[in-house]
Order: sequence, then C-alpha cells, then structure tokens
Amino acid sequence: MSPANTESATDTEAQPTTQKWSDLIGHEQIRDWFATSIQQGRFGGSMLFVGSPGSGKRTVAKLVAKTLLCENVPALEMAPCGSCNSCIQVEADTHVDVIRVCKPDNKSSIPLSTLIGERDARMQEGFCHDIQLKPLIGTRKIAILEDADFLNEEGANCLLKTLEEPPADAVILVIGTVEQQQLPTIRSRCRIIRFSLNNENSKRLLREVHQIEANDEQLDEAIEIAGGNMHTAQRLLDFEANEFRDSLLKLLLTQHPDPVKISRVLNQQIDSVGKDPKKRRHALRDALAIAVQHFRRKMRTTAYAGRHDAQTMRRLDRSIRAIHELDRNANQATLIECYAADIAAGITGERGGIG
Ligand SMILES: [Zn+2]
Repeated sequence: MSPANTESATDTEAQPTTQKWSDLIGHEQIRDWFATSIQQGRFGGSMLFVGSPGSGKRTVAKLVAKTLLCENVPALEMAPCGSCNSCIQVEADTHVDVIRVCKPDNKSSIPLSTLIGERDARMQEGFCHDIQLKPLIGTRKIAILEDADFLNEEGANCLLKTLEEPPADAVILVIGTVEQQQLPTIRSRCRIIRFSLNNENSKRLLREVHQIEANDEQLDEAIEIAGGNMHTAQRLLDFEANEFRDSLLKLLLTQHPDPVKISRVLNQQIDSVGKDPKKRRHALRDALAIAVQHFRRKMRTTAYAGRHDAQTMRRLDRSIRAIHELDRNANQATLIECYAADIAAGITGERGGIG
C-alpha cells in the first residue's frame, strides 16, 4: 500500500476517457463480470470500486452508465453506441439519471448536506433522496459516489440504508482507493470490485490513453515511484519533473544533506506550478514520493549488502510521514521546513502532528 495513493476525484484534471469496453486496458475480469451479470438480468445493488488513482474506476463507472442507458444498443450487448443523447450526456456528466457526488475541493470530507440535504431540508435533497426518484429518461438510475476515502462515520451512517436497499431500478457505484481505508460499514454493504493494473498494462495506459512518449525504463521508474498511482506517474513523466528529480536526488545523496538547500529546492518546485493550492499540493506530494523511492532503494541496496542502515530507515519513515501530513492538510511551509531539518539530521521527527 503506497502512502501516496489517496487522491480526491476533483484533484485530477480532465483525463482522456476510454469510450468502449473493448478499448479498456486491463480489467478483463471486471468487464466479464459486468457482462455476465447484465446478461443474466441480476445486475444491480451497491458496488464499491477500489484501486489506485488512475487505474480505471471512473472509466468503468462511465462505461457501466452508458451500457445501461444507451438508447441504441441493448445493455446485454455491452457495446454502448457513444453517439446517442444518453451516451453523450453520460460522457459530459449531464445525464439526469446519473447522480454523481464527490468531495468538494475546500472540504476535508464529504459533507452531510451532499448526502442527505441541508439541515432544513434533510432527506428532501441530496444523494440519498435523489436516488429514490424514478428515472426520468431511461429505465435505470446510476448513482456514483466518488471520493469514498473522504467519507466520515457520520456520512457513512447516513448511507447505510440506501446502500443496503437501493431502489430496484438503481445501481450505486461507490469509488474509493485503498480497500482497507474504506469504512467497514460501507464495505460490508457493497460488492467489492478491485481494480489493479500490472506493469505492462500500466505502461500501455500511459502510452495509449495518455499519449506519453517515453522509453520502458522511464515508464518503469515513474510507475515505481508513483506506487501504482497513474496520475502521479503521468506528472512524473514530464520533462521538468525529471530535472527536478535530479536536483533533489543530488541533495539527498550527499553524506550530510543540507536542510536549507532541501527546503529551497522543494519550495522552488512548488512555486514553479503557480498559486493553485491543488497543484502545489500535488507538486509537493510528487517530490516526497521521489524521496520515498530514493530511500527505499537505498534500504534495499544496503540490505543486499547485509548491512542495517538505521539512518536511511528513519529518513524513509520521515518521508512517508510527510506525505501523511500533507494529506491531513498540514501547512506546507512548516511541513517543508521541518521535513528538511529532520532529513538532514536523519531523524524521524516524531513530535505529534504539525500544521
Ligand atoms: Zn448510445
């Protein structure tokens, strides 16, 4: 499990999409399962999609929605036309029978009002209400709840009844990342569908869908650092990221890393992406992922040589913890300063949460 694997749906910019089941990379078993259960007429209920960011969960959710709502091709053929009104509206996120909610950018969890309506209109609006309404155009409703990683207990409790007994004409797709991170109450009420891409398929996805031109070695390296997160891998593969990686690694490789230089290089990298807080967070997350990979490799090398390298271990721990701090919205300037100081000193810097 990679520490860099949590990511909000709204963190990602518009991604190219796969329009046909036959173009889907990897996930053959998932496609076959959907095909069989649709053909046997037993498709419905609540499903939880888990897997690394960028592995194809949203792509499959859209394909499912199109398959069920296409006006030209019956669902059991698993070949939505892509050109009818329904297919176009699903693609554009404007179909009235597809409910889609996600965590707002400025919130740390999915607000209750999104799920069950504002305080003065409880259960008169929101996800749980909307799903009970009859479909307006098609015969099915598809409800997609993104960012399940950011559901809190209270929010999850509001969902339980809906997940347990969705209306007969509705399908609920809950989308998260790491399976263990999903609340047990949600997991137990959904069929869990696991998304993973092997190395070959990850490379195909980066090349064929995201149009990245890079050699095998560069792709392998980015996929390894990204820990399976395809969005991170994409960002790591652009040219400037490589230059930055070289300068950061040069600093980390020295016998006594200089904390001032480390924080300068990190701050420069964040500043280079502009003022957008989301982009700045991504830039720092990617930088820390590079550090994590560097220290992991160093641990591996010393382990092969039969040595125990406690200091590298502490630096690795510290880097992983910095990613967690970033995920908990720690103040970035403070985080960088403390991180650089701890890395230089070779300590884990346990001092309770910062920020
Ligand atoms: Zn269609």
